[in-house]
Amino acid sequence: MIQKHCFECGTPLVEKDLEGEGIVPYCPRCEQYRFPMYNVAVSMIVINEKTGEILLIKQYGRPWFILVAGYVNRGEQLEHAVCREVKEEMGMTVIRTKFNRTSFFEPSNTLMCNFTAFVKDDSELSTNAEIDSYQWFTPDDARKNIRPDSLAEKFLNAYLDE
Ligand SMILES: [Zn+2]
Repeated sequence: MIQKHCFECGTPLVEKDLEGEGIVPYCPRCEQYRFPMYNVAVSMIVINEKTGEILLIKQYGRPWFILVAGYVNRGEQLEHAVCREVKEEMGMTVIRTKFNRTSFFEPSNTLMCNFTAFVKDDSELSTNAEIDSYQWFTPDDARKNIRPDSLAEKFLNAYLDE
């Protein structure tokens, strides 16, 4: 998806050579380069190292199970966002992360970056107000219970099929 207009003033962008970067969209009115803009989020397959179980959650009054996820702050490392979100939402300390894959989610203009987040056990588990409920599943049951046809399902199945 290429942005055709300046996000500040709406002027059609032109292509201009930026030294060291190649051709970059440019707003002739603002006299600024306009790199593509999108959001970045992390989604986590949280695994309990003691039991091998996978954590799925329900949120926002919806009936389906999904993965823990959250937006990455500007300037924040993805790995840090993984640990921060699991701590904020579930109270647990991530001891190890593993990068899995990314996928662009058009409806929210977001690059979703999927990680596995390992926790030692569930002794610290304490959910915040964003979480309606949670459940630990064996890998096979996680597959069966995650929201069908979702990006979360795609990430989980790709991870489990490796
Ligand atoms: Zn402009």
